[in-house]
Amino acid sequence: MTKKYLLAPGPTPVPANVLLSMAMPMIHHRAPDFLPILESARAGLKWLFQTKNDVLILCSSGTGGMVASVTNFFNTGDKVLVVNGGKFGERWTKICETYGLKVKEITVEWGYAVKPSDIESILKAEPDIKGVFMQAVETSTGVYYDVETIAKIVRNFENTLLIVDAISALVAHDIKSDDWGIDIMVGGSQKGLMLPAGLSFVSISDKAWKANESSRLPRFYFNLKKERDNLLKNQTNFSSPVSLIIGLNEAIKMLQAEGLENVFARHARLANATREAVKAIGLNLFSKESPSNSVTAIMMPEGIDGQTVYKNLREKYGVTGAGGQDKAKGKIYRLAHLGYADTFDVIVGIASLEMALKGLGYNIQLGKAVAKAQELLMK
Ligand SMILES: *Cc1c(COP(=O)(O)O)cnc(C)c1O
Repeated sequence: MTKKYLLAPGPTPVPANVLLSMAMPMIHHRAPDFLPILESARAGLKWLFQTKNDVLILCSSGTGGMVASVTNFFNTGDKVLVVNGGKFGERWTKICETYGLKVKEITVEWGYAVKPSDIESILKAEPDIKGVFMQAVETSTGVYYDVETIAKIVRNFENTLLIVDAISALVAHDIKSDDWGIDIMVGGSQKGLMLPAGLSFVSISDKAWKANESSRLPRFYFNLKKERDNLLKNQTNFSSPVSLIIGLNEAIKMLQAEGLENVFARHARLANATREAVKAIGLNLFSKESPSNSVTAIMMPEGIDGQTVYKNLREKYGVTGAGGQDKAKGKIYRLAHLGYADTFDVIVGIASLEMALKGLGYNIQLGKAVAKAQELLMK
């Protein structure tokens, strides 16, 4: 038997109480039993997204929420700005282009963060830009972008919406939707929220609802106005993923018991220990600036292939992290500390990485990285 550990930046481990809550017998989503369940989820999501606006719940993976953020607020030919610093930034471009939007990209070298001032100068020069699309955490590079500064810039442009894909950042980073002025923020269930994949979440500002009135892109399944009208009656437009929403309530209950500030502090502490531990054995971070608290992207040493490390960890030790994507493939290994993660998840991740690297010929003294992590995690 090999005991398995899931340390990927999604899907992430699901706590036993959340799993058990989802095993409850099925109830009908139009029956009265479901109303308080969705009502509680609505309240919980507002708390988590730090917004007074309703957060819509869609039955889809995170990408569905991204698609809905394009199709409900824009028109064919609209000019938009996309921050592309990795695989998920690239996804924004692909979705926007699929629906006929004219995309201008700010390309950011992988491993770096977008400069808010660059966004500001582009918006000043081209005030006809209708939307700025970005990630909070670009999961493929492990970089956190400065959402706060960017939001404070974009909110000054009356006809420009800020759309933030916070799918891998929610729960790990303190993102204040309303205070900062984020128009649309997208979340997903299988990352920080400690659930299986299947739910996406979209929060929408008044400014964005205004844009919704004149948006004519084709949409049927992800019709956010209809979702909102239904949500006000504690219903969803189509069949609700009842079990997942019950699980969501259970997960939010855990986060509320901990308290938002403590949840963020836990992620910061785990991320810091992971980063310092790998540096202690001579490894570099792939994120050259602003490394995220969700996932740590680690550069592999010369001559050691990241995919081999990933496979070795999976097959020999039962530890599933993530390799690199696209141009980072083979160069990096990613360890998440996201959602249902605590001290000994970091220890497992770091200890197993040391073992895999040593086994593949990297000259290290076993335990050095673990010792560093232990030292930091005792605090
Ligand atoms: C995981 C992730 C997504 C969504 O992926 P799905 O597979 O559709 O859930 C989108 N953006 C980021 C930054 C992610 O990490």
